[in-house]
Amino acid sequence: MSELTATQIQEQTDALRRLEIELDTVLRQSKEAAQPVVLDQQSVGRLSRIDAIQQQKMVEANRRRQNLRLKKVRAALSAIDAGEYGLCLRCEEVIGWRRLQAQPECTVCLECQSHLEIRRSQP
Ligand SMILES: [Zn+2]
Repeated sequence: MSELTATQIQEQTDALRRLEIELDTVLRQSKEAAQPVVLDQQSVGRLSRIDAIQQQKMVEANRRRQNLRLKKVRAALSAIDAGEYGLCLRCEEVIGWRRLQAQPECTVCLECQSHLEIRRSQP
């Protein structure tokens, strides 16, 4: 069981639900922009074609990040339901309240996060 009070849990639930709606909306809006670029070769110059492709790549990268965050938000909401919210998935230590406030969807403590990042950056 986490050490958060009912008020804190409620606060995080609200924040997570807001994030879920926000991300869901953004993802739906950007869906069209992520479609493959179809441009009229006659009327569009080479440079604007490159621009459009780069723009699309950026939209895609953003969408990937937002999708991942949305998954984390949903996972955090289920963790709240299960009464396991606020505990690190890796070491089962309590995640700091400040960290949870800054990032309601986080599921690992700061220390484990840095371990994970080190491992990910290794070949
Ligand atoms: Zn941990």
